[in-house]
Amino acid sequence: MPLYRDEGVVLRTAKLGEADRIITLLTKAHGKVRAVAKGVRRTKSRFGARLEPFMRADLLIATGHSLDVVSQADSIAAYAGPITADYDAYTAANVIVETSDKLVTAENERTVAQYRLLIGALNALARHAHAPAHISGSYVMRALAIAGWEPRLTSCVVCGGRWDAGDVFFSIPAGGLMCARDHTPESRRVPAVAVTQLRALVEGDWPVLDGHDLMPETVRLVEDWAEYYLERPLRSMRLLD
Ligand SMILES: [Zn+2]
Repeated sequence: MPLYRDEGVVLRTAKLGEADRIITLLTKAHGKVRAVAKGVRRTKSRFGARLEPFMRADLLIATGHSLDVVSQADSIAAYAGPITADYDAYTAANVIVETSDKLVTAENERTVAQYRLLIGALNALARHAHAPAHISGSYVMRALAIAGWEPRLTSCVVCGGRWDAGDVFFSIPAGGLMCARDHTPESRRVPAVAVTQLRALVEGDWPVLDGHDLMPETVRLVEDWAEYYLERPLRSMRLLD
């Protein structure tokens, strides 16, 4: 079987037969890859914990007829240890890998920007660089922005009038802010702070985010934006409510 080498992050795993697992990975150069890890559930597996969720590894993969097979895995970064030791970080990491898994639908499609964003977010969680909910919220908004769904947060999507301060309306299907004159019935009124926080999440503007909890309105905007543009709910995110 032909072999290829790539680095990847484990998004999720599923049992296969007695001792094997199917590993879903986001790789740097081959996009999303599903591959079988043989014997990985045995206590003395040669893979150890290197193919658990949130792990980043250098991989040697054999191209199979139906599914690829992991031939070798060397750890690059063991994000899983510090992440699973902290409940909030673990919850945020689940939102992140679920978003990545749903967003990158085409397998073997090159998605370097998505890959860099993913390892940046998991690395930040493992280092406790910022509040876990901020890291996952920012990851979700930025991953969707890379995919082409970035909300317009500085001006009205209808008239283009600049928004500076005060309550404003937000329409998920229309893609951003709406002024009081143009807002449509499905838009919602949002406080200025929620717009500022949402913009900081999209831009990864940590000085704006650090030290303040996200407003419930901000959290709801992230959830609804993700659900609408991914065309399905994020199970791990709804569990946070
Ligand atoms: Zn307007």
